[in-house]
Amino acid sequence: MTQFDASEGGQPVRPGGVVGILGGGQLGRMLAVAAAKLGLKTHIYAPDADCPASEVATKFTRGSDDYHRGLSAFAEECDVVTLEFENVPVASADLVSRSTPMRPSRLALETAQDRVVEKDFLCGIGVQTAAYAAVDGISDIAKALQELGGGAILKTRRMGYDGRGQARLSASSAQEAEEKARAAYAQIGRAPAILEALVPFRREISVIVARGVGGEIVCYDPSENLHEAGILRRSMVVSGAIDATVAAKAHEIARSIVSALAYVGVMGVELFELENGELLVNEVAPRVHNTGHWTIEACPVSQFEQHIRAVCGWPLGGAQRHSDVAMTNLIGQEAAEWASIAADPELSLHLYGKAEIRDGRKMGHVTRLLLPVAT
Ligand code: AMP
Repeated sequence: MTQFDASEGGQPVRPGGVVGILGGGQLGRMLAVAAAKLGLKTHIYAPDADCPASEVATKFTRGSDDYHRGLSAFAEECDVVTLEFENVPVASADLVSRSTPMRPSRLALETAQDRVVEKDFLCGIGVQTAAYAAVDGISDIAKALQELGGGAILKTRRMGYDGRGQARLSASSAQEAEEKARAAYAQIGRAPAILEALVPFRREISVIVARGVGGEIVCYDPSENLHEAGILRRSMVVSGAIDATVAAKAHEIARSIVSALAYVGVMGVELFELENGELLVNEVAPRVHNTGHWTIEACPVSQFEQHIRAVCGWPLGGAQRHSDVAMTNLIGQEAAEWASIAADPELSLHLYGKAEIRDGRKMGHVTRLLLPVAT
């Protein structure tokens, strides 16, 4: 069988071709809708038949408890396979690659799945991050806490999202460091971890960047993001809100990351902006990103279409923002307000088709276009 490589261009997937998507959440749903716009078919591979993506895709395959059973057959039916969640096992990407191009590639997954590997990679290419230490046990944590000084965040190396698997801690003596380390380690489930210095950021921003199979890159304007309880509440993109030199620096960082990984597809790059305008990368997501949902209404080509274009080997589309914009997530019970949101002519409503409303669950989002961008 042919082994495909993400850096290999090959022939573009033609209209009528099949894009396989690993994962069936709202990101997969919006990818499937974007693919349909381009005349492409989608095939979702996910564990739950009632997932948000399955009802808008051409075909659905239920991944068995043993994730790999059925994966090869699925991949063989697709012209390209991509993903909508970054914790797809690397072995699955390898299995897919035996028959079908997997984009993004195993390298991007390996790098983004482990916070220590990710930070080592970023520092290795000259991108700044918070000071950090890999920690494995209470004494490691206590020692690193004292070395970092001030406050710190303990995060599981793997599988953390929306602020889960994290604990904040600080200590002013060796004894206190030991006690705090013990409590924090228990809080994150005693998993292999990273201790990061607490960054006194001015605000959180992110860049959605896309790289095509030929190496071409486009970046969307950076958004300003507000989190509540570790979950994204709102993303705003307003002309002049982010200094032009900071925005240019954020774009340069995003470009250097996707270039170094020979990445194909859309990536979300989350950054901390410091008071002096310096930028530190918090993390990268090798997929479409919640902070890029505003691109559906405010740009010629959304992040979802851009990702489909990139992984299918198509030319990338226009990422130029035509309006200032605010995107707000509908979390838990907020989705019950759908009727009043739908009645507001200035709002664009997106619901993800999740049957059950649960606290902290992303049920949909709302976008409001603000002023047009001056030309
Ligand atoms: P993460 O899961 O790494 O994206 O972290 C979730 C949220 O915690 C971020 O969006 C920040 O608001 C906050 N956070 C994470 N790491 C740090 C840090 N090193 N310093 C300050 N705040 C952080």
